[in-house]
Amino acid sequence: MKEKEKKSRLLDMFEILNKSFGPQHWWPADSLDEMVTGAILTQNVSWSNVEKALASLKKNGIDSFEAILAADTILLEGCIKSAGFYRQKAKRLKTAAKFFLSKRFIKRDDLLCLNGIGKETADSIMLYGLNEPVFVVDAYTKRILTRHKITQKTDYDSIQKLFEDNLPKSITLFNQYHALLVKLAKLFCKRKPWCNRCPLAIDLLENRIPFPTENFKSTDYLLLNTR
Ligand code: SF4
Repeated sequence: MKEKEKKSRLLDMFEILNKSFGPQHWWPADSLDEMVTGAILTQNVSWSNVEKALASLKKNGIDSFEAILAADTILLEGCIKSAGFYRQKAKRLKTAAKFFLSKRFIKRDDLLCLNGIGKETADSIMLYGLNEPVFVVDAYTKRILTRHKITQKTDYDSIQKLFEDNLPKSITLFNQYHALLVKLAKLFCKRKPWCNRCPLAIDLLENRIPFPTENFKSTDYLLLNTR
């Protein structure tokens, strides 16, 4: 696919999703401290479990980097139990808290040196916590792009580059786009895709890309989407 075509499809997809789902108001946090805590806790677990852990931390007054660093480890682990891997995550929270309290300027590469912080977590912190225009890639992004045959490269860096090279470098756009892709994957582009009801099916239809499901009925889809 030509670069120009990628650009226009990525922008069109954004427009469709933005119109369908509206503002997503990411990241749901009151402070950088809470955002970073949530980003670490959400690794390999659903957000509803993270919310329980965040509520428990708040209830126990552990709602800042200073408080995390000072917290008794057993108490910290108990508060975040609902987020799974609580021993490992408690250690990661303490390491991150120490790091954020000791640095004035945070760079992506420094975050990546921290134990347990991979590219997705580092970029989430850069974008949603520190307002840097970096595109966050996750398994949902890879799934949607490959199903729509925009790329066959599934490594993190290639997908991130695809978005960053083809979209305006805008914090607001990157913030909303990633959030919209997560919403799309949770509602429609699941392991078993639900294309008949999905707002993005139009992209497959218009670009004559085969549907990743045998059950797609374009008549059902068009009826729903032309109301
Ligand atoms: S149309 Fe199908 S493949 Fe495309 S995003 Fe929707 S559910 Fe996924």
